[in-house]
Amino acid sequence: MRESTIEAYLRDRVKELGGKAYKFVSPGNDGVPDRLVCLPGGRAFFVETKRPGEKPTKLQRNRHRELRKMGFVVFGKVDSKQGADRVIQLATGRGYPTEQDIEDLEMQDVE
Ligand SMILES: [Mg+2]
Repeated sequence: MRESTIEAYLRDRVKELGGKAYKFVSPGNDGVPDRLVCLPGGRAFFVETKRPGEKPTKLQRNRHRELRKMGFVVFGKVDSKQGADRVIQLATGRGYPTEQDIEDLEMQDVE
């Protein structure tokens, strides 16, 4: 499965909730997350999508870290449709993140 397939899947799920998954590109700031997701009610977070099994680069991890230091939520590695579904569940308050979620979705810094 391609990364773009997972990204489109996430975009469509967010749209169903009345939100936007903005493609995030910042000239001069390579490595920023792929999407800035905004949901009704003022919820916003970042998502880095990947093809299945692919990991974020060191530069991407550094970008994730700098956003987290400012208090933003970054899902640093979403590499499956199930992962995208889990992001939606967590972002909408339906369930708490498990240790497995934190590892699978890279919700915290990893080295
Ligand atoms: Mg990506």
